[in-house]
Amino acid sequence: WRAFARPLEAGPEGLRRLVVVLRDETDARRTERMRADFLANASHELRTPLASLAGFVETLRTHAKDDPEARDKFLGIMAQQATRMARLVDDLLSLSRIELNEHIAPSGKVELARTIQDVVDAVRPLIEERGVNITTDVRPGVTPVTGDRDQLVQVIQNLVDNAVKYTPKGGAVRISLEPAASVEAARAPSRSGVGLSLLSPDAPEGQAFVVIRVTDDGPGIARQHLPRLSERFYRVEGQRSGGTGLGLAIVKHVVNRHRGGLTVESAEGEGTTFSVYLPLAPAVAAQA
Ligand code: ADP
Repeated sequence: WRAFARPLEAGPEGLRRLVVVLRDETDARRTERMRADFLANASHELRTPLASLAGFVETLRTHAKDDPEARDKFLGIMAQQATRMARLVDDLLSLSRIELNEHIAPSGKVELARTIQDVVDAVRPLIEERGVNITTDVRPGVTPVTGDRDQLVQVIQNLVDNAVKYTPKGGAVRISLEPAASVEAARAPSRSGVGLSLLSPDAPEGQAFVVIRVTDDGPGIARQHLPRLSERFYRVEGQRSGGTGLGLAIVKHVVNRHRGGLTVESAEGEGTTFSVYLPLAPAVAAQA
């Protein structure tokens, strides 16, 4: 707590009225600490590829100068590090833009079936490179939602990217879209698995939703990691994906802006399902 006192009225005999303000500083402190942690993490994440780039520049100028084979190899690694830095900066910018307008309700009309197909087409090269099979199962006649199309593309893309990235060669990824009467509690997909709600919508009673599920039969995620998945820069240790660790944080903020819900269900060795619930407009929901 922090107290501020200010005289309101003073008479000849001295102070007559005083206003005292007591402010709970815990929230402000926590926000400040989170901001400082975020800056420290972001700087560290940018510094790592930058240090590697600087190191290779030095090697190229000295030892590898007259060795064309080594030079090509180092230039290849440098290009990868530069791509990594660019991806990180893009994700950081996306996150800050989303956070800035998180309180403004999106107003566009988004055809999710079309959007899902566009994302699948865009990730086709990655799918082919990884040798993963992808199927879509879109219920016909699902009503459009009110939303921000670019941001919803990013949500679907991040989830599909992860599913493809973490699933071994020959694995299967499935994307589905269907109506949902409400946000179902996340269920464990099997006895060894566990389900968790990463974001619960603040929705009125009777609100109808559509649900986009992205399911893979990859390695799954251990129970202890689930609650932290949507934290910025959180990655399951030992998984070298080259990702930024910001993908699910972006998903959570966008879904929050849309007043939707996000759940994860996972079983180690069996796979993972992320479900995004998006509310239907009230008039449409009433007819549904
Ligand atoms: P990243 O850029 O590292 O993929 P994300 O925020 O998208 O960051 O994901 C956070 C972490 O969650 C990942 O590093 C990975 O460990 C884990 N993860 C996300 N999706 C999956 C999935 N489909 N299967 C297994 N692990 C996953």
